[in-house]
Amino acid sequence: MAKAKIAVNGYGTIGKRVADAVRAQDDMEVIGISKTKPNYEAAVAHQLGYDIYVPAENLGAFEKAGMPAAGTIEEMLEKAELVVDCTPGGVGEKNKPIYEKAGIKAIWQGGESHPIAGFSFNATSNYEEAVGRDLTRVVSCNTTGLCRVITPIDRKLGVNNVRATIIRRAVDPNDIKKGPVNAIVLHPVKIPSHHGPDVQSVLSHINITTAALVVPTTLMHVHTANMEVNTDCTAEDIKKIFSSQSRIRFVGNGITSTAEIIEVARDLGRPRNDMWENCVWPESITVTENMNEIYFFMAIHQESITIPENVDAIRAMMELESDGTKSIEKTNKALGM
Ligand code: NAD
Repeated sequence: MAKAKIAVNGYGTIGKRVADAVRAQDDMEVIGISKTKPNYEAAVAHQLGYDIYVPAENLGAFEKAGMPAAGTIEEMLEKAELVVDCTPGGVGEKNKPIYEKAGIKAIWQGGESHPIAGFSFNATSNYEEAVGRDLTRVVSCNTTGLCRVITPIDRKLGVNNVRATIIRRAVDPNDIKKGPVNAIVLHPVKIPSHHGPDVQSVLSHINITTAALVVPTTLMHVHTANMEVNTDCTAEDIKKIFSSQSRIRFVGNGITSTAEIIEVARDLGRPRNDMWENCVWPESITVTENMNEIYFFMAIHQESITIPENVDAIRAMMELESDGTKSIEKTNKALGM
């Protein structure tokens, strides 16, 4: 079977990971990535053998830098069947007309809002609804993390409401423009933060309120989560539900911080120290005496958690697999999860 032809527009934190993850699959291929400037990331992409497509006005600059471009971004889109837009939040929306003009399917990231595609995706929650779709938005890192824990509990016990506080990393590790900050910043001051409504863009029936604060770290986010369920349960029941999910990883053996989780990723030899799974502390899973309120801590690796979801979204939209469970298994295996 011919591989699905994928273009990655925007090769930053998310784009470079999406490109490598697509490359690792046997049913899809990267026909090109885009860069706006011939910087160090473009040089590495060139070294990795990616065909680089650039804005027409920058063709000369790439030539001069010794990494000749394969063509313009418009030419890349002509060769693709689906584009994964990984440009900064807000830029993706401006790109919509060029995708429409090229007549190809498109995936956007969580920095864009739900109406851009009219459909927001999380593989655990709504894979089957993405099958054959032309436009999809893969929700952001924190929303992905929340959907992955809410959905299996909701399916088993019925979720009455969710309350979560999200302690957010200030910036990504490579960001020299915005960090570090020396404060705890309410982000935003108002409650709910955008994460609750964003979860509802995937799980419209879930009653959820979120609050978010930014702290001076670059490694990961941490959530304190609380769910009220409709069926009595114990902490062991919740552990069993989470254990059945391949994208939820238990962290124990004395780990009490995001730094140690990243060290685990390093020790496992994960590419770029990526931790694609939600990291839940099993010791923190607590159910109150009335047996319907659940509490736990989890950590989310912002740079990588949405990467397997992008691969699954491609597989669903390109109708390469109609069963979400099978796609999740295939993606995980190819990534080495
Ligand atoms: P980034 O800034 O690291 O990368 C964006 C890349 O797009 C850069 O290389 C930039 O040069 C390039 N670019 C800018 N304008 C472009 C254009 N017009 N055409 C082609 N390329 C262009 O951003 P990121 O962190 O990878 O975020 C991308 C998207 O993923 C955003 O929607 C963001 O909200 C979302 N997201 C980010 C994270 C995270 O923690 N970094 C997590 C989940 C989702």
